[in-house]
Amino acid sequence: DRAADALSRLVRDIPDFPEPGVVFKDITPLLADPTGFADVVAGLASPGRDRDGQVVVDKVIGMEARGFILAAPVALALGVGFVPVRKAGKLPHATYDVAYELEYGEAVLELHQDALAPGDRVLLVDDVLATGGTARATADLVARCGATTTGFAVLMELGFLDGRAALGDVPLTALLTV
Ligand code: 5GP
Repeated sequence: DRAADALSRLVRDIPDFPEPGVVFKDITPLLADPTGFADVVAGLASPGRDRDGQVVVDKVIGMEARGFILAAPVALALGVGFVPVRKAGKLPHATYDVAYELEYGEAVLELHQDALAPGDRVLLVDDVLATGGTARATADLVARCGATTTGFAVLMELGFLDGRAALGDVPLTALLTV
């Protein structure tokens, strides 16, 4: 399909970034291509609707930093609000925070306590699913607000890392699995 085709053409592999041995998926050529960008945003938004086209989420979360770029247009496409999940110390109001492990390193993510209402249905959006640590940590933050993660949408799933296993019952939409 068009989104998978755009990803195959416009995402490049950068060896040894940010550390030796890691092959980094660089999405900047995709973002610079308006047709490709629009195609992947449409693909990421699709789990936010049911078969009849009704919007079935109340908020879209993007994870810092590339998740922001993708989740904001997805939220607008669905007609719902955008909520940022950020690295430690960046959000100005009262937060929930969670420590998690990355493919390379460890970090803390934060969410404003009042960003989600109890019962909200939330779609998480990011560029790449690697180990699933970021997704798992974000779903934990959503639960702290009494809200529910109903889906997780990414451009690319790195299948060999089995991040899908970290997501439990939450359905994953990956536009391309590599
Ligand atoms: P995980 O927590 O699933 O191990 O890693 C996913 C997070 O790390 C995502 O927020 C993603 O942006 C970033 N990430 C990990 N590997 C890559 C990669 O190869 N390319 C890009 N663009 N992001 C990556």
